[in-house]
Amino acid sequence: MTSENISQTNLLYQDNSLDTSISKCPNCGGEAVYSAKHQKMRCKYCKSLFEIENYEKVKENDIVDLINKGSVWKDTNVYQCKSCGAKAIFSKQEVAHTCAFCGTSNVIKTEELPGIKPQGIVPFKVDKHQASIIARKWAKKQIFAPNSFQKSAKTENIKGVYNPAFTFDSVTVSSYNGTLGKNYTTTHYVKGRAVTTTHTKYFKINGTHNANFDDLIVQASSNIPNNTLTKISPFPTNDAPKYKAEYLHGYEASTYSKDGNTCWQESQAKMKQQIEAQILKRYDYDIKASLNVATKFTKNTYKFILVPVYVGHYNFKQKLYNFYINGENGKMTGKSPISKIKVLLTCLAVILIIVGIFFLANLLAE
Ligand SMILES: [Zn+2]
Ligand SMILES: [Zn+2]
Repeated sequence: MTSENISQTNLLYQDNSLDTSISKCPNCGGEAVYSAKHQKMRCKYCKSLFEIENYEKVKENDIVDLINKGSVWKDTNVYQCKSCGAKAIFSKQEVAHTCAFCGTSNVIKTEELPGIKPQGIVPFKVDKHQASIIARKWAKKQIFAPNSFQKSAKTENIKGVYNPAFTFDSVTVSSYNGTLGKNYTTTHYVKGRAVTTTHTKYFKINGTHNANFDDLIVQASSNIPNNTLTKISPFPTNDAPKYKAEYLHGYEASTYSKDGNTCWQESQAKMKQQIEAQILKRYDYDIKASLNVATKFTKNTYKFILVPVYVGHYNFKQKLYNFYINGENGKMTGKSPISKIKVLLTCLAVILIIVGIFFLANLLAE
C-alpha cells in the first residue's frame, strides 16, 4: 500500500502540468471540451477530436490516509446558487450561468477553494442528447402520470454534473451469537372442532462469518438525495481512470460536503447491515430475538472519485420534477406527477377483478 500513498503526493506535480493549454485544440487553438459521445476532447470551433492521454487507472489508497489531506484541486472555481445553496466546481475557463439543481440563474462565484482533488473519475459516456431521449422515454412509461405528461413532458436544463464519492474495500471477519425462533403449529380438538395454535421454538446460534467488500460506494455530496446514487448505480469505479482536468471541461462537479472519515463510517454501517443479512440467511427462522455481531475490518482501502450524473427536470404545469441519469450507463430515476383519476380507476379495476374471481370460484364450486 505504501507505493499508493506516494501517488497522492505525486498528484501535486501533475497538477502543475495541467493548465488550460491542454484544453486548447491542437488544430486551431480554439477551446476544446470533453465529448461524452466520443470519449475524447472535441474542439468547439473546428470540431476536431483528440485523445485524452490517460493510461493509468485510479489506485486504491490505504484507509490510514483517509483524512482531509490530499492535493488541492487547482484550475477550478467554486460557484454557489443563491436560491438553493448548491455549490458547483467548474474549470477556470468556464463561467457558471444556471444552477443544475434548481434551474435558476442566481449563481455567483465564491472565494471558496474546491477542496481535495479527486483521484479518479468515471467519465461521461452518455451525451446530453441521449440523456434527453432517456428522460422522454421515462416520462412515457409513467403509467400513473397524467396523459399530457406522458405525451409531452418537457425536459429542461439537463446538465452533466460529476458527483464526488468514496469507494471502500474491506476484508471482514465477524463473530456472532444470538437467538432465533422458528414457528410451528399444533392442533387440538375442542368439542369436535379443530383449533390450531402457533408456537415458537427458540434456538441459540453462534459462529464466524467472512465477507469481502469491493468498491462499496458512498456519496460525499448533499446536492443529490442520498439514495438517488444507489438507485442509478452501478458505476464502473474499479475501471475508473485517474482524474484528469480535461474530463471536467464542458461539465461541472459538485463540491463534497462529507469528509472521508464520515463516509467511511457510513460505509461500515452499510457493510454491517449486509453482514447481518448474510448471517441470518444461513438459518431457517421466523423470529430474530437477538443477534450480536462483532466485526473486524481489515485491508481497508478507499478511492475518492467523481461519478457522472445528468441532473434535469420536467416542467409540468409550472412545477418542476427532478430526475437523475447515470452518465455512464443511462440508468434513470425521477419524480413524475400523479394522476388521481388514473390511480382511482386502477384501484376500481383491481377490485372488479378480485370480485370477478370470487364469483367465478363460487360458480365453479357449486
Ligand atoms: Zn479546433
Ligand atoms: Zn440552485
